Amino acid sequence: PPEQQEPDPKKKTLVVLGTGWGSVSLLKKLDTENYNVIVISPRNYFLFTPLLPSCTVGTIEHRSIMEPIRHFLRHKKAAVKFYEAEATKIDYEKRVVYINDESEIKGAISTTEVPFDMLVVGVGAENATFGIPGVREHSSFLKEVADAQRIRKRIMDCCETAMFKDQSPEEVKRLLHMVVVGGGPTGVEFAGELQDYFENDLKKWIPEIAENFHVTLVEALPSVLPMFSKQLIDYTEQTFKEETIEIRTKTMVKNVTDKYIEAEYTGPDGKKVLEQIPYGLLVWATGNALRPVVKDLMTQIPAQKDSRRGLAVNEYLVVKGTDNVWAVGDCAIANYAPTAQVAAQEGAFLARLFNQMAKTEEIEQELQSLSERQEKAPSKEVRDAAFGEIKELQKRLRRVKQMGPFEYSHQGSLAYIGSEKAVADISWLTGNLATGGTLTYFFWRSAYLSMCFSTRNRVLVLVDWIKAKMFGRDVSRE
Ligand code: FAD
Ligand code: NAD
Repeated sequence: PPEQQEPDPKKKTLVVLGTGWGSVSLLKKLDTENYNVIVISPRNYFLFTPLLPSCTVGTIEHRSIMEPIRHFLRHKKAAVKFYEAEATKIDYEKRVVYINDESEIKGAISTTEVPFDMLVVGVGAENATFGIPGVREHSSFLKEVADAQRIRKRIMDCCETAMFKDQSPEEVKRLLHMVVVGGGPTGVEFAGELQDYFENDLKKWIPEIAENFHVTLVEALPSVLPMFSKQLIDYTEQTFKEETIEIRTKTMVKNVTDKYIEAEYTGPDGKKVLEQIPYGLLVWATGNALRPVVKDLMTQIPAQKDSRRGLAVNEYLVVKGTDNVWAVGDCAIANYAPTAQVAAQEGAFLARLFNQMAKTEEIEQELQSLSERQEKAPSKEVRDAAFGEIKELQKRLRRVKQMGPFEYSHQGSLAYIGSEKAVADISWLTGNLATGGTLTYFFWRSAYLSMCFSTRNRVLVLVDWIKAKMFGRDVSRE
């Protein structure tokens, strides 16, 4: 394995921000020998987000879907430096990233700066709250491992508190009302997992909650899962009905307090009604917002002036208005949905691009020295030989430079909807396949299993599934 070494002054310094889908897919395929590679992220692991909703109820343990970044960086051909820190500011003019160690343990130095020649921004996105009062204080998001752990704890806390001696019937009802805001795939998958947890485990161990435990999904638009086909939306809504998950569409949350949400429902006649909905657990899944570090970078680049949702990039993922900054994943706006699938393909594209750029530079240098040699060559024979070599190299250079722009290839959308059912919109060779049901669920499971980061992750997830099937999920509150 490569040892940590000092940066090679002959190589460019490539700084990669983040250890999510975009950055990790880049690092996986990047030939690290060509650059001094530095990775900066507050998270020293990669997280397989598609299975995060399963961690909120213990179908899967969170560590099974985490892969330490150190594991795979250690296997790269040339050493890669990793700093566990948050990029607090990118100074585009100075070509410097300011970083801050945000973790609990801090050394004598916890803030510093890292210069770069090339920069890849893959910091993902924050949770959108739309400035709605009380969201940050009272609800749980579902983006990181800590979020899933918090939700798991709170579900059990709600159940045990509802069982507290002399609790009033209204209070029991409130505590056992689990409200999910946002009918995108995150909200739908979480609601499905939670209902499963109740049906398979909670009801068995605390039968007293059965009458009052209730999951509600609140969505501002007229339907859930807008990215799926009409047929699958109907299938999901029908399945939720059977699972007794209540879907409240056309209902926009406007305010959140510690015990209830205030939501505005638009009736069929267009009339708006403001309603208070009491809850015990509130999970907020209304999509993405910009991270401050990205917002700040955008203000430094005039070409980003009109961009609102993220860093506008060109077809080679270069941040518009720059020539040495690239962006991947949820923080980049390339006209694709903010999904893991897109981020992973963008990262892999950048790895190929950077590998090619290094190769191009190498050939250009070779060409330069060959033509110098040719000029100084004493005989015609040597000159001719060098000429032949130059021709050959030029041909290679043209081939290498021929890399086309990034093109996203959509493999399909998949979502788990509870009671061992899943929905899938898949565009295969034969055309579109829209399916839902138990068979799709097994497809969902095997697809996600095969997509796991490592064999180690795959085995851990499989063992968790077997454990949950054999013994049920663990209902202890950690
Ligand atoms: P992320 O994967 O979020 O990674 C961002 C990285 O940047 C993290 O390592 C973070 O720690 C780091 N970072 C943050 N701030 C800073 C900073 N200031 N400086 C340096 N580093 C920083 N997509 C699908 O296609 N299929 C699915 O099934 C699916 N399921 C999902 C389920 C859930 C619960 C969630 C939340 C998302 C899901 N997604 C899914 C969406 C997918 O996870 C995202 O689109 C994807 O993670 C985006 O990748 P990214 O690299 O841009 O960001
Ligand atoms: P999303 O943006 O897909 O959905 C958020 C939903 O919240 C929207 O439907 C919106 O109308 C609703 N909303 C917003 N404000 C509201 C309010 N005040 N009151 C009620 N409803 C409100 O968000 P997501 O589900 O977190 O997904 C984020 C991204 O990650 C998406 O691109 C998604 O495709 C991807 N993802 C994919 C999968 C999967 O493929 N299985 C799973 C999770 C996430």
